[in-house]
Amino acid sequence: MKLAESELKVLKIISLHNGISRKELSKITGLSQAAITIISKSLIQNEYIIEGERISNGLGRKEVMLSSNPHKFFFLGIDIGGYRVRLALSDNSLSVLHTTEFPISDGNTEPSKESFIRARVLQFLTEIEHPASSLDAIGIGVTGIVDSKNRTILSIPNAALSIPNADNWENLDIVQMLSEEFGCPVFLDEGGRTMALTEKFIGKAKEEDDFIIVHSAFGVVAGIMTNGQILKGAQNIGGLLGHITADPNGPRCTCGNYGCLENIVTYPMLEREFSLSGNGHRNLSLVEAYRQNDKQAIDVCISAGQAFGIALSNVVNLFNPVSIYLGGPMFDDFPILFEETRRTITLRANRFATVSLRLDRTTHNHEQGIYGALLLAKTQYLFSTMD
Ligand SMILES: [Zn+2]
Repeated sequence: MKLAESELKVLKIISLHNGISRKELSKITGLSQAAITIISKSLIQNEYIIEGERISNGLGRKEVMLSSNPHKFFFLGIDIGGYRVRLALSDNSLSVLHTTEFPISDGNTEPSKESFIRARVLQFLTEIEHPASSLDAIGIGVTGIVDSKNRTILSIPNAALSIPNADNWENLDIVQMLSEEFGCPVFLDEGGRTMALTEKFIGKAKEEDDFIIVHSAFGVVAGIMTNGQILKGAQNIGGLLGHITADPNGPRCTCGNYGCLENIVTYPMLEREFSLSGNGHRNLSLVEAYRQNDKQAIDVCISAGQAFGIALSNVVNLFNPVSIYLGGPMFDDFPILFEETRRTITLRANRFATVSLRLDRTTHNHEQGIYGALLLAKTQYLFSTMD
């Protein structure tokens, strides 16, 4: 069934909320209460939404809350990072029913990376005894470059850290292969952007139209939402924060440039910096030394926070976001990195932009990417006609 534009609009808002009244819908959409009544009736009949409990509005009258029907669809999310791939199956409410992960290097010996991913998805669905034919849509988020038609993975730059021969992970025609195999639409996008979807739909940015999300683990990815739209750019490269030049004298990056931010502020690079710093605790890892208040460990984190903060203060001046959300294991293990990033942004970005800027952690942290892949499937499947 094809939904009308007004139905999609209402469905989108219901999906953003965990229970919303018809009155509230009318207020948000600007549609009359009579129109909302007709639209919600049609959405209920077609099982897109369900009626929930009656909540008192404080004036004695009780209102019925509407939510999206959790059992309407099945979505598969594929989150391809620089060193691992995660898979998850969810229902329409984005409750993850099953999940698994495997190192990306498992595919090294496979001649076709597309068929390697397909085989792992089939294996996953067999193991959880879920029929492949019942998938409604597949969403793929990748820490890499995607072509402008969102069909092909052009490269995964930071995969070279975990894959000796990373050229094999270029020009993957993955959308076509998976859509032929599973007979459902397959959507592909860059991982930072899918993480932005997570913050927008099931995180702290529900009411925000201008925000930035940055996740740093083995690489650095970013999603930039400006005026309610995710930035893509002419060649779909927009938001490639990990590969902006942060140190012109820095080492060669796997992307071909020198001194990329990703060569300074990822977890492995921090550990490398610490081991090169001539510290007196060579038997300690960075995280162990940090926990013992080792000065060199703290200094490594402070200089990484400064590099991060300088990069982000440029982003703040360019996009003037309401919030920046930071995620990844570095911020779990080294709280001073977050604080130094905040301090540097406040120091360097324009004061009119920072006066109400909020710096926060991402809502779903390590799960941000897999939820993003699921949300890409769900939102593109349901709302693509609205773009
Ligand atoms: Zn680079």
